[in-house]
Amino acid sequence: MMNEQTVVNAARKMFGGRAGGRVRVGIGDDAAVVRIGRTDVVLTIDSVVEGVDFDFRYFTWTDVGFKAVSAAVSDLYACGARPCAILVSVGLPAGTRASDTRALMSGLRDAARVYGAKIVGGDTSASPRLFVDVCAVGEIAGSFKSRSGAKLGDWIFLSGPVGASRAALGLFQKKLRVSPALRGAHCRPIAAASDGIRLAREPRVTAMMDVSDGLLIDLARMCAASRVSAGIFPSRVPVLQATRDAFRRLRRDPVQEAMVGGEDYVLLFCVRPPVPDGLAGRYSCIGQILPRRRGVQTPLYNMERRSGIRHPAGIMVKGFLHRF
Ligand SMILES: [Mg+2]
Repeated sequence: MMNEQTVVNAARKMFGGRAGGRVRVGIGDDAAVVRIGRTDVVLTIDSVVEGVDFDFRYFTWTDVGFKAVSAAVSDLYACGARPCAILVSVGLPAGTRASDTRALMSGLRDAARVYGAKIVGGDTSASPRLFVDVCAVGEIAGSFKSRSGAKLGDWIFLSGPVGASRAALGLFQKKLRVSPALRGAHCRPIAAASDGIRLAREPRVTAMMDVSDGLLIDLARMCAASRVSAGIFPSRVPVLQATRDAFRRLRRDPVQEAMVGGEDYVLLFCVRPPVPDGLAGRYSCIGQILPRRRGVQTPLYNMERRSGIRHPAGIMVKGFLHRF
């Protein structure tokens, strides 16, 4: 069976993932960077598909538009870039009403406003299911932050809490009551705009990405790109009280669930010590970069659990991966 990683690897082979010439950052990071004239332009694209990324039992058309823009611009902030322009392609199913498309567009517009970006074009097609594909174009706000810059000894941080979106989905699926805050986290997530721009300007930030498929899987990706391992302190992973309560209602372990829940759109980043006070006070330190260990299954370790006498226990990497 194929998954999205297989496809990305094949794309990198076919198109060439390496930077060179105009291409400053190629395939494999949260966004690409292309030099146009004297400016580095940051580019990313992200799609949401009915029945895969959202479900009309829980989403309005406006939510879908809002979430599609948030997901796309999150990849810009993840690199320390600020969105400028947005292109949107939509595939509309048979029977779509004019009021549905207006609702969809109002979600796109509201989100674009939140991020200070302009929607400048797109395309419309017929489709068996609704899909919305958002291409976001941005400029670097400080320096470009790649996911491949993590170094041994760096501290690992999260810009905000994780797990709320997954908790909301769990409640929706069990037909339990979902508070407005949890519903918002799932249906109208807000990307970490001000954090992305602040961290882009912080020279001690060595690597950054957004948490879109789950903390564990995304941290494992950062480790692979940076050729390092990572130790996590699970008790330090920030999880909102409402999220903890929701997972308890679902009889699931809150921290374990929060670490594999996708669509958090917070930033995962590494800081070279000493950590500036402004960062240490504001963000949650959840672990540290360790040397890469060859021939082991996982790059992630639980620093609060021992395996044998000396080594921290390995963590199974789980998270969301599209499969085909
Ligand atoms: Mg990303």
